[in-house]
Amino acid sequence: MMATTHVFAALALLAPVAYAVPGFATPLAAGAVLGGLAPDFDLPLEHRRTFHFPLLGLAVAVPTAALAIVAPSTTIVALAAFAVAAWLHAASDAIGGGPEMDPWNGRTERAVYDHVRGRWIRPRRWVRYDGAPEDAALAIGLAVPALAVYDGWVTAVLLIGIVVSLAYALVRRRLVDWTADWNWLE
Ligand SMILES: [Zn+2]
Repeated sequence: MMATTHVFAALALLAPVAYAVPGFATPLAAGAVLGGLAPDFDLPLEHRRTFHFPLLGLAVAVPTAALAIVAPSTTIVALAAFAVAAWLHAASDAIGGGPEMDPWNGRTERAVYDHVRGRWIRPRRWVRYDGAPEDAALAIGLAVPALAVYDGWVTAVLLIGIVVSLAYALVRRRLVDWTADWNWLE
């Protein structure tokens, strides 16, 4: 799934909390945006493995979220939102496609690495590849709860994210030709 889909999913998950506790809406959004993006910073390393923790991430997210409930502060709430968003990103990569540039051609069976069992989780392909039409639709649907709860910079991030998602989805398949020299990425 697209980076924007991951960010919107985290914002959607935390939107009810932001609505209920508006005083922490900003650290929740900041943590959700950064945590939704963070795992994919392993792109130049071993993508979907180095910074992706689909199971272990939960072991960090749950206690951090519990701490944020028991002893809330701006920093702890932001960290908890970050941990939850990063875990959700890694876990939901399993319902997407493989990490290759053209997942509709070559089919690897590696969606995301499970550090607990020491093996790759296979792609479910409910979303066939990042930038697929269903990915764009999912991104827009997931943006709605946060659009309803937030205003200010979060709304700006959401609207820019929607435009970028649609543009990316429109050119996604052509990207492979444009980036033919980048095949080392696979
Ligand atoms: Zn990812």
